[in-house]
Parts: sequence; C-alpha cells; structure tokens
Amino acid sequence: MGWEGNRPESEQAGPGYIGRFAPSPTGLLHAGSLVAALASWLDARAHQGQWRVRLEDVDTPRCVPGADLAIMQQLALCHLVPDGPVLWQSQRGDAYQAALETLIVKGWAYPCGCSRKDIESAQARSVLRHQVAVYPGTCRSGLQGKPARAWRLNVQAVQAELRLPPITEWHDRRLGRQAQNVLETVGDFVLRRADGLWAYQLAVVVDDAAQGISHVVRGEDLADNTARQILLQKALDLPTPQYLHTALVLGANGEKLSKQNGAQALDLHPPLHALRQAALAVDLPVRAEVTDIDASLAHWTAIWRAQYAPRAPFFKA
Ligand code: GLU
Repeated sequence: MGWEGNRPESEQAGPGYIGRFAPSPTGLLHAGSLVAALASWLDARAHQGQWRVRLEDVDTPRCVPGADLAIMQQLALCHLVPDGPVLWQSQRGDAYQAALETLIVKGWAYPCGCSRKDIESAQARSVLRHQVAVYPGTCRSGLQGKPARAWRLNVQAVQAELRLPPITEWHDRRLGRQAQNVLETVGDFVLRRADGLWAYQLAVVVDDAAQGISHVVRGEDLADNTARQILLQKALDLPTPQYLHTALVLGANGEKLSKQNGAQALDLHPPLHALRQAALAVDLPVRAEVTDIDASLAHWTAIWRAQYAPRAPFFKA
C-alpha cells in the first residue's frame, strides 16, 4: 500500500474529528514515535474521523535528508495511511510570519537580545527546568542597546489583556486536570529563535489550527508544552483542540526513548511485531491468533473506542 492510498468509501471519515501525527524528521521512527502514530490513528478511527500527518521539519539543522519520506514509508508498512495531503512545516514560513506579526501588532511579542549566557547569569538563583533557565523577562521592557536576536511572547500582557488567570488549566483525556503557571515555570517563551528558525510552539499552534485539528494525541513528554500552546491559541484567537497524552515507552535504562538518547530505528520486519509492541505500550491487548495487520488494527480500534470514544461517531454525539 502506498502512503497516499485512498481508503475505501465504506470507511470514509466523519466531518467532526481531525487528528494528526506530527513527527520531526530528525531520523526514522523509533518504538516511542510509533506509539504516538498508532494512538493518534486509533483515536481518529474510533471517532470515525480523519488522521493527518504533518512533518515538523522546522528545525532544519536537526533534520535528516530523506527521513520524511522514509517515515511515510514506515507508516505505510504499518498500514497507517493519512487522510488528505501531508503538510511540511518547512513550507509554512509565511503563515508563521503572519502569526508573529499579529502578535507584534497587539504588543504581545517582543524582540529579545539575550544570549543563553545572559539569561543564566541574569538569574543568579536560576530555576532550572529541563536544564533550561526560566526566562526572567529581561528584554520585556526594551532591548537596552542589545541587537534583537529572538522573538518572545509577553505572557503577562496576553493574560492581562485577555483576562486570563495566571494558571493555565486544561483537561487531558487520559491524565485528567492539568495546570501550569507558564510565567513561573517557563517565562516568556520563544516564538522565533535567535538563529531565525521558527519555534516549535508557534509552528504547532498555527498548523494545528490551519489543519483544523480537533484532537491532539501525542506522547506524555509533550504534555508540558500544552499550557504554552493554549496561551498562544488564545493570543491568536484560534480554537483549542482536545488533548490526550499517551504513556511513554521507556528504554532499557528507564529513560524515555528518543533519537537524542540513541533509540534504535524500528525493526519493521515484520511490521505487526512493532505494532504489537506499540499497542502494549498503550495497554491494548495483543491476540496471538490475530496475525493480520488490518485485523489487529480493527481489534484495537474497537477497544480504544470503548475507552476513549464511547459516544462515537463524534459528530453525532
Ligand atoms: N514534532 C514533535 C515531535 O516529534 C511532536 C509535536 C506534537 O505532536 O505536538 O516530538
């Protein structure tokens, strides 16, 4: 099956639900990324919705040439075929620029001249979060003669002008109530990086809205970004999707699997074995007697629907 293959008419998607899988082509899929692919695909099918793929290749120095198409082939081998065209973030610069300009015009984005060193030394008692210092707001009231490097969101200004509380709350479909004080835990976060590249937070928010994404299903390591994304959605007057963050696959050393810590590329010979491992990671049972990929996917979809989409189809609820 090619990755652009059409699904039969009997399986056509309902209009209300659009989900997505958004891999960064910094290498091939690994066992952890297949979990996000499978879970987002199952959630879309359980809601009779559409499943889109977006290749998040904004961080060009980290992208590996050809990894995008190789990922699409890996997905196709697993019979995870997107509905509709694939979106490449590297082609979306104009949309990100327009969003940044909207924020600048509202006075909610400001240029920052701080280097990483400046930020760390400005915070003698630096609060480290994921090894990144919370930005202390040094350039919020002006560059003080430094050349502009990055663009940041003025979190306080957005919250004050939109009358939003300091703590951003949201509901995760698996984890339940979540809350984060973005200003205290991350500070005014970057929209455009000092190297001119678009920041993940801005790109993901602009594209989720442009693609009409109603439901985001992704790994729990990304849950921490959600409050920032919700703030940006509000600042740009964009809808907030529903979120579900899946359990992470841990490597033998107990650390989350990621390309950075050397996760092996998926062994897709045969693909059903890799899919079964991914299913087990999200607590779906594996039936030894089901030896066909489509039958396995149908079995997992039924279980997923009972747990996460009991009133599906979504658009008739
Ligand atoms: N591109 C991100 C990653 O591969 C995922 C972004 C998202 O799902 O919001 O980790």
